[in-house]
Amino acid sequence: MTSTDQQAFLSVRDLKVHFSTEDGIVKAVDGLTFDLEKGKTLGIVGESGSGKSVTNLTILGLHDRHRTAIDGEILLDGKELITARESELEKLRGNKMAMIFQDALASLSPYHTIGKQIGETYRKHTGASKQEARARAIEMLKRVGIPQPDMRVDDYPHQFSGGMRQRAMIAMALVCDPELLIADEPTTALDVTVQAQIMDLLKDLQQEFGTAIVFITHDLGVIADIADDVLVMYGGRCVERGTKQEVLRTPRHPYTLGLMNSMPTLDGPVDVPLSPIPGSPPSLLNPPSGCRFHPRCSFAEKVAGGLCSTEQPALEVVGGRGSACHLTPEQRQEFFADFAVSRHN
Ligand code: SF4
Repeated sequence: MTSTDQQAFLSVRDLKVHFSTEDGIVKAVDGLTFDLEKGKTLGIVGESGSGKSVTNLTILGLHDRHRTAIDGEILLDGKELITARESELEKLRGNKMAMIFQDALASLSPYHTIGKQIGETYRKHTGASKQEARARAIEMLKRVGIPQPDMRVDDYPHQFSGGMRQRAMIAMALVCDPELLIADEPTTALDVTVQAQIMDLLKDLQQEFGTAIVFITHDLGVIADIADDVLVMYGGRCVERGTKQEVLRTPRHPYTLGLMNSMPTLDGPVDVPLSPIPGSPPSLLNPPSGCRFHPRCSFAEKVAGGLCSTEQPALEVVGGRGSACHLTPEQRQEFFADFAVSRHN
């Protein structure tokens, strides 16, 4: 992450995304700031409902504009997206920025061939002829590792395996060489072998094109594999950020530590039992007072004056590294030492 006085390729400042529902206002994202450079990957990690997917739908302008109040700033290569017209966003989507989702089958139309769907995206943004679009679709299928692309280009999505559909969706997302790719849990539904292949593919494509990637996941193992920088979200807020090495080697927030200790790894210590984080993610309609993590935090009672349940800790960031927690560095050092933090190093 860059310091705030540099202009990053993607710059998000104090983003707030609030929905109105029949039950009240849902504060899905509540003051989020981050930067992303070209050619780098930012991993956004958190449980369901932490605000990570909403953040990215908002960047793409895919939220319901009538029921959503958005505040803050999203700059993509200097262009403000929050105030952009739908027609402008339409031009940017698929061209300058693209997204791949978890469920390729739901994202691809079952009525059209894979080649037509990739080709149409290309034609829409470049004005290419049908023949040129078909050639481009074949080239993209080849690039993402589909065997016999000149034949498979005429297949329908149901004729592809799950891994091949995911590759086809990546081909569609990258057909116009976007500079920003948002990947929302793109490998969650795949088996580990295919997952590893897709991750390698994304890394190769990023090297080739210099794409900036926002990678959303609940899996710290995936973050360890692909991210340069990490942003940990909880209850619509960033609770910790830093480089991958900083966050995974020396976590500063009890929630990050909890995530690490609740996930198995292939090379982690076998004698350290997994310990799931107790409780459930907070309601964003009526979030807990103070630190939103306090009802689940094993360290809350160690902070003097009951501060955790009354005062929201500020996210203090120095040089891109930061966390939002009332624990002092000395307390953190003392308390965290008892917990296994080496699983994902
Ligand atoms: Fe836990 Fe308090 Fe830190 Fe929140 S502020 S994470 S409740 S110690």
